[in-house]
Amino acid sequence: MQYNAVVKNIKDITPEIKLFFISFKDGHKFEFKAGQFAVLALPDDANNLDGEWHRRAYSITSAPSQDEVEFYIVLVKDGRLTPRLFNLKPGDEIFMGEKPAGLMNFNGVEEDANLLFISTGTGIAPFVSMIREHKDEILNGKRQVALIHGARHTYELGFKGELEELQKKSPYFRYYPIVSRADQEVGMEWNGYRGHAQNLITNGTVEKDFGVKIKPEDFHVFLCGNPKMVDECVEIFTNKGFTRHTLKEKGNLYFDKH
Ligand SMILES: Cc1cc2nc3c(=O)[nH]c(=O)nc-3n(C[C@H](O)[C@H](O)[C@H](O)COP(=O)(O)OP(=O)(O)OC[C@H]3O[C@@H](n4cnc5c(N)ncnc54)[C@H](O)[C@@H]3O)c2cc1C
Repeated sequence: MQYNAVVKNIKDITPEIKLFFISFKDGHKFEFKAGQFAVLALPDDANNLDGEWHRRAYSITSAPSQDEVEFYIVLVKDGRLTPRLFNLKPGDEIFMGEKPAGLMNFNGVEEDANLLFISTGTGIAPFVSMIREHKDEILNGKRQVALIHGARHTYELGFKGELEELQKKSPYFRYYPIVSRADQEVGMEWNGYRGHAQNLITNGTVEKDFGVKIKPEDFHVFLCGNPKMVDECVEIFTNKGFTRHTLKEKGNLYFDKH
């Protein structure tokens, strides 16, 4: 394995969440579909490139049309790759896999289907890519799109500004940030939703606010993030008649666990 890409820029969301902007060293563009993930890797020992490399999957947050590939990454303090990623500076080299992967994309989604994205933590990443790529459809009302993002703390709601801006511009897009530990934040007043992402479905908030019934005939539902949230939502939507989308069978329920 060898370095084939370079970190162009890094933006801090919090000390433990960063955006990484990466390009291939030879300048060729990364071909992927919005919603897919890529592999990033670094050597265990930066002075021994022939030794062990740590490879991990990361969802892409940029739209395929953007020049640099953007990732939204949370530090796992005792992890093998993320502490190494968090030591990188712009200009440093990295490995980025040439082949994107993942079924979390618009293949199989009808042109006028409404979309419900439910995410926690870094699970918002593929949905940001999809929303950026299909922004015009959202602005011109071709489809209605709702995005729930659950985080523990308000400062972990990466992309809040961008998504609120889109919501202001389009009546066809609704953004529901929901925070589970806002009460632990000193000096921060949070007037938004509190609890877990799936609560906004079970208590009817999204259907009431959005003014539409979330039915398998009209919606595709995408889930990404915490395994417990994903499992609970799979049960909720399976009971509503949604079926999993796979390579073999077209469905309307898509999920990935981070
Ligand atoms: C399809 C897919 C897409 C992903 N996309 C993203 C993404 O967009 N952004 C992102 O930050 N991560 C994403 N991940 C997770 C990522 O691949 C790594 O697992 C994560 O960054 C930890 O890697 P590490 O080498 O630092 O930790 P490891 O050395 O793999 O793990 C060390 C320890 O930390 C635990 N651990 C692993 N992840 C977490 C976590 N998030 N919080 C707390 N403990 C943890 C492990 O169980 C283990 O005990 C994705 C995973 C998959 C499968």
